[in-house]
Amino acid sequence: MLSLIIPLYNEELLVDELLSRSSAALQRATEDYEIICVDDGSSDRTLEMLLAGHARDGRIKALVLSRNFGHQSAYTAGLTYARGDCIAMMDGDLQDPPELLPAMFEKLTAEGLDVVFGKRIERQEKWPKRQLIQLFHKIFRRVLHNQEIENTGNFGVFSRRVAQALLALQEKNRYLPGLRFFVGFKQDHIEYRRPDRQEGTAKMSIGQLVRLAFDAFFSFTDLPLKVCLYTGILGVITFFSALVFTCTARAFGFAPYIGWSSTVLSIFFFGSVQLVFLGILGEYVYRIYRETQNRPLFIVQEYID
Ligand code: UDP
Ligand code: MG
Repeated sequence: MLSLIIPLYNEELLVDELLSRSSAALQRATEDYEIICVDDGSSDRTLEMLLAGHARDGRIKALVLSRNFGHQSAYTAGLTYARGDCIAMMDGDLQDPPELLPAMFEKLTAEGLDVVFGKRIERQEKWPKRQLIQLFHKIFRRVLHNQEIENTGNFGVFSRRVAQALLALQEKNRYLPGLRFFVGFKQDHIEYRRPDRQEGTAKMSIGQLVRLAFDAFFSFTDLPLKVCLYTGILGVITFFSALVFTCTARAFGFAPYIGWSSTVLSIFFFGSVQLVFLGILGEYVYRIYRETQNRPLFIVQEYID
């Protein structure tokens, strides 16, 4: 059985086309499938249309969350309810073409892989979103020392044991494309061109995307902390050199002239550097706090299967 998970947040303009295209695509792969549409607290007619879809075809299921929890949580919610031996994840805005699913599924089974994910060889979002996303992928690839992760998202299919491994990860800061690499197993990709979203506006604001990028960085690397540490060490070295220089100069009878501006400017400079570093430290502390609070990632209101 194949389970397809689709998170949806106010996507009434797309639901009908999404469901018909996804059903048609899955049909080509197998008869035995379910489509779990996670309604992430939509306030428009998304749920109504999902229920109509369910009435037409019982394989279309609606997992209703109690409010908007964000799309990484919505995917995780879908994952906990998926019963398939093989699980697929796909955004609901048709930026991930459902027509690719049979090819992914085919590759997974034919080559005995555990994960087949989509790799975007081209994307069509507008400025500055596309440039920001590309920058993120470039840095994140370096941070993870993994070429494969560049230009990949949630779109992909994986085996039951990968799903089990992902569910076993209890962390609250979830960046699923990163975690999917973390769990390992045999992985490969297929390439595709990613169109811009077909209808409606992006449901993730630039701010939320930045947040997601932060989650990705802070949960996968201590690089920001290293930057603080090394800058600090550099500062100490500079300070000591200046100290030696000043003392030597005094010993030889001429005190170097230190002006008001250089004093005040350096106070401001080091003050702001310290604030930035406190902020970075704070990001880690906040994340530790969130983990210890141990609140659920999502709350399910209803599962219509
Ligand atoms: N989405 C969601 N909850 C949210 C935001 C988005 O379930 O809080 C869904 C959205 O309906 C879409 C997918 O996640 O199916 C990707 O969202 P979007 O296209 O806005 O993200 P982007 O393409 O900007 O990364
Ligand atoms: Mg999108």
